[in-house]
Amino acid sequence: MKTGQALVGGRWRDAAARFPVTDPATGETIAEVADCDGRLTVEAVDAAAAALPAWRAMPAHERAAIMRRAAELLAGRAGAIGAVMTAEQGKPLAEATGEVVAGADHLLWAAEETRRVYGETIPSTSTDTRIWLLPEPVGVVAAITPWNFPVSMITRKLGPALAAGCTVVLKPSELTPLSAVAVAECLTEAGFPPGVFNLVTTARPQEFAEAIMADPRVRKISFTGSTAVGKNLIRQSADDVKRLSVELGGHAPVLVFPDADVAAAAAGVARSKFMNAGQACTSPNRIYVHESVAAEFTDELVKLAEAITVGNGADPGVTMGPLIDDRALAKVRRHIEDALAHGARLATTRREGPGRLHPPTVLTGVTDEMLLCREETFGPVAPVLTFGDGESTEEVVARANATPYGLAAYLWTRDLARVVRVCEDLQFGIVSVNGAPLAPPQGPFGGVKGSGYGREGGHHGVEDFVEYKYVSVGLGR
Ligand code: NAD
Repeated sequence: MKTGQALVGGRWRDAAARFPVTDPATGETIAEVADCDGRLTVEAVDAAAAALPAWRAMPAHERAAIMRRAAELLAGRAGAIGAVMTAEQGKPLAEATGEVVAGADHLLWAAEETRRVYGETIPSTSTDTRIWLLPEPVGVVAAITPWNFPVSMITRKLGPALAAGCTVVLKPSELTPLSAVAVAECLTEAGFPPGVFNLVTTARPQEFAEAIMADPRVRKISFTGSTAVGKNLIRQSADDVKRLSVELGGHAPVLVFPDADVAAAAAGVARSKFMNAGQACTSPNRIYVHESVAAEFTDELVKLAEAITVGNGADPGVTMGPLIDDRALAKVRRHIEDALAHGARLATTRREGPGRLHPPTVLTGVTDEMLLCREETFGPVAPVLTFGDGESTEEVVARANATPYGLAAYLWTRDLARVVRVCEDLQFGIVSVNGAPLAPPQGPFGGVKGSGYGREGGHHGVEDFVEYKYVSVGLGR
């Protein structure tokens, strides 16, 4: 059995206790990892605070070179790290390997951006003053990441934080700490000075949160996870007025208009819905299809859903893995049962298990009141709703917007004016038109409303870790 250690101040550390990591496909314990307590978290903050002055002062091209090396190491080990990810998270090997490559790309993109963290000079109102805007790192950052993308969620935070000159204490999900350990190994080998990056594995996230909230040296928290935990962190951070970026839950609508390329729309929905067994914050949760194309769309989607091979992600040929745990499986079942009890119909064949496997499922006759149209399912269930000629575009968009969430939305149409209007009217942080990808490193990814605030990716992502100091200089003439 493998063991995983924490990384504090450049040293691999054991904790007094360990917690088990299980393979969601088999339920077997595959490793034991250091269960760090609040004291070790404080030591990690000590290390990050001690490393900050030298790291922020290091010339940008030197910092970029270390980050580039880390990205290369990560990409070079994509197969091996992908296998670790599959074992602890469940996604198929090809998906896991692809995520490591994408994660490395986030780090590489941020490495390049390191050299472009610019300040500004601003015209002043007097000949005797000058105004400068100096970009400075926010300081020590605590990053908290979820289990659904165990590598890319880390590098999307690490990259911009390090590019801005911050030092980091990372707490990955207790369900997927081994992927984080593998990332930490790459960073260590790349030559980051001790303390610039610290990894605190723990099965006691609240204790970690208490330690970082109580520590005034932690100036920023970057969190990705559920809306409930995110709201708690927002409340807890008020006392010390820490900066926060929160990437939270989603409830993505898809709008398929009658002029859409219906086959392409079905393929796009199948891709974004069934990827990672539906366990993505951008996963479509309400698919609004014009009734004139609903039958064609549903037939295509059902064909694609039934072509998916469900099984242990480590087995060749498997294209969808298990759900992460029993709670996740129970939620998926509850959402399906509620929909069926309220008049929805199952369009795919019903198959169950074994274990945490759940088949890709398409439901028709879904209405906005059903549970799965109000709560995030986080599983492989595609609910198809319809709209008709009697409903204006504005009315369908209003249905799409009627959610407390606002992360991603999808739009399928060939009418340019409709693209423009609907994009402007959708209350979501990200809109994909006709299947365009959502999360490349240069795109500022993030939500509005209950899906959080802050952006990851692009120069906006780096700016989330920068304080702009306004300097007004009197020349004394
Ligand atoms: P979660 O909120 O349960 O856990 C996320 C992280 O928070 C984990 O590291 C966990 O250990 C930690 N955590 C749990 N309780 C905590 C506490 N009291 N204090 C501090 N940290 C705590 O979420 P999850 O189940 O891991 O992830 C799924 C959720 O994440 C979904 O809602 C999904 O939509 C969301 N998500 C959002 C995005 C985005 O970019 N908006 C991306 C991926 C996932």
